[in-house]
Amino acid sequence: MDHFLYRDGNLHAEDVPLAQIAAQVGTPFYCYCAATLTRHFRLFDEALAGVDHLVCYAMKANSNLAVLKLMGDLGAGVDVVSGGEYRKARAAGIPGERIVFSGVGKTREEMHLALSGGIRQFNVESEPEMEALNEVALSLGVVAPITVRVNPDVDAKTHEKIATGKSENKFGIPIARARAVYAHAATLRGLAVVGIDVHIGSQLTELAPFEQAYAKVAELTRALRADGHTITRLDLGGGLGIPYERANTAPPLPVEYGQMVQRTLGDLGCEIEIEPGRLIAGNAGVLVSQVIYVKQGEGRDFLILDAAMNDLVRPAMYGAHHDIVPLVEPAPGVEQVPYDVVGPVCESGDTFAKARMMPPVGPGDLVAFRSAGAYGAVMASEYNTRPLVPEVLVSGDHFAVIRARPSFDEIINRDTIPEWL
Ligand SMILES: *Cc1c(COP(=O)(O)O)cnc(C)c1O
Repeated sequence: MDHFLYRDGNLHAEDVPLAQIAAQVGTPFYCYCAATLTRHFRLFDEALAGVDHLVCYAMKANSNLAVLKLMGDLGAGVDVVSGGEYRKARAAGIPGERIVFSGVGKTREEMHLALSGGIRQFNVESEPEMEALNEVALSLGVVAPITVRVNPDVDAKTHEKIATGKSENKFGIPIARARAVYAHAATLRGLAVVGIDVHIGSQLTELAPFEQAYAKVAELTRALRADGHTITRLDLGGGLGIPYERANTAPPLPVEYGQMVQRTLGDLGCEIEIEPGRLIAGNAGVLVSQVIYVKQGEGRDFLILDAAMNDLVRPAMYGAHHDIVPLVEPAPGVEQVPYDVVGPVCESGDTFAKARMMPPVGPGDLVAFRSAGAYGAVMASEYNTRPLVPEVLVSGDHFAVIRARPSFDEIINRDTIPEWL
């Protein structure tokens, strides 16, 4: 559920009409609800209440400093995948002991940064990375806490570009090699093994693939303990999906996920970490855009918006669906019409939806892309020299711009012309 509802005929974010924000900020812009972010974090936190746990928000889903501050104040940890994200998390006030570092290509500079600044654990994804981390830790005279990310070879049944738990994916080490890799880790004095990590993909709409993966993790925990390793922490990754098509999908709820986790892993006495990103931020955000033109094509009408693939790339990149709704509530029973919804960018891929049935809208009208709070603003670019889309946070009856739209001067002055040109 979210906090974007029609009230008095106008779509609101909590108690603020989105049209009012549009009038002040201009379009396009992202808008997030603090109440939804808070609610989603708490759903996970409560779902794991029966076990020692930490919810580590996967900040790559939405890494605005204000969102991170809100998460940190709720007691969340974060999952970071780059030195930049580590710095941002720290800048938002999240302590090192609540930061886990994931990713297949951590550089020595990033390891150095996190080891000297404080880190809960590194989720190591390969033996070369393990050796590099050992060297960096020894050079600093510290011991790096690690889990090894195992690839359980299960089919997450999600989009191929966001599946990560099959043997053909680049992530983790094959689970069959885990005992050998842990034996190797135990010989490295700069490392301290604390647990196991797994993350099988994103936008999962069933519990079964998680459960298969976690059952393999339970089995591995017992085997590694028998080998003499200390396994006290299980990082289960993120990946629980959200209902992008409200009418047709109902992914499992965090509470059901939590019950499955406790059923599968609860008797191991381990601290549980989870790394949800999309489910926390996705339905907490919308992208608001204005209709520029309605253009009649052959056998179709194009709804040309002022938002484009550079602002929200998911439809172009994954063929993703976002519900698109007018800010003014349609009259009951209004006849829907089909539109090809497109942006102004010079690419045919700049298409948000084809033959989408929507209430009729016209030039100047405002629309909202729902479920755009995760993997939206963070993936935006300035392609076509379109200013990076601004972000707004609402809480109750007030709102603030949490990232301003850059001016054209700022954009132009970011480049430099060499003096020899
Ligand atoms: C992307 C990612 C997540 C978050 O996935 P969601 O689908 O957004 O919940 C968590 N952990 C790791 C390692 C990731 O790469």
